[in-house]
Amino acid sequence: MARKLIPLLLFSLLLCLPVLGSASTVTTSFFPIHLFASNLLNGIDEITLHSLAQPDTGCLHDYQLSSGDLIALSDSDVFLINGADMESFMDFVFDAFPEMPVVNASEGIALLPSVSGETEYNAHIWLTPANAQQMCRNLADGLIRIFPQYEDRIQANLASYVDSLEALDETLKVGLASLTRRDIVTFHEAFPYFADYYDLSVVAVIALEPDDALSTGELAALVTTIRENNLPPLFTEPQYPSLAADVLARETGAPVYTLDPVVTPPSGELPLDWYQTVMLENLKVLQSALGSDLE
Ligand SMILES: [Zn+2]
Repeated sequence: MARKLIPLLLFSLLLCLPVLGSASTVTTSFFPIHLFASNLLNGIDEITLHSLAQPDTGCLHDYQLSSGDLIALSDSDVFLINGADMESFMDFVFDAFPEMPVVNASEGIALLPSVSGETEYNAHIWLTPANAQQMCRNLADGLIRIFPQYEDRIQANLASYVDSLEALDETLKVGLASLTRRDIVTFHEAFPYFADYYDLSVVAVIALEPDDALSTGELAALVTTIRENNLPPLFTEPQYPSLAADVLARETGAPVYTLDPVVTPPSGELPLDWYQTVMLENLKVLQSALGSDLE
């Protein structure tokens, strides 16, 4: 009952708002989609790009829509999402904005199951350049449907971005082929697609969801797993505190490194090749953590 009432109340609220302007606006759910859309819409100044989640949000696990988000969505021509269960608020969005076009970047991507149990699928699909290419194709198709007048520019942007992601994929394949060991422990469940694709093995995940606090029992189980696997490197993420990883490193002597799941922008202006920059840095970190002749 309450669930049905909230969208109605919101509608009444939105009807009272002044019209926010008629320029074209594309709203994205969070940073990876914002980064891909920035590349696809590069040079199209008539379209404003707006991201719901603030840059420091990281992944959208447990994200709650704010009233500002609802106002932004009500003023958008299209909403670009990751899909694959990243945006847990989509039922609400479909109820509140039944007319708004939504483009799901995960269409056609083979999804891995989530092991956290909170969602059906693991949402971190953007962490292979191959998936990123498919996501950009989906986003470009959706943008061209809404803005056919910019088709040529979007297609050209897509082609050059896909070429660059293809080259990145080759670099990663070569750079990761000759690692001395291939097992890793990651901070949250962000890297299964990457590990699958590049033949690494995630032997443990420290926190299934970034905000989970670990119990003593869970920490003890992780210590056992890490020792049994001969102290694989632990990878924290720049967006999240590394407290649990530090405890595990102290207990086991396993080394700690940082892997970046590309969910936050650098400070200042966003470089369009930020995805490539971060993934190449991740490659260097993995080579130094796991050992490599190519290092
Ligand atoms: Zn995540």
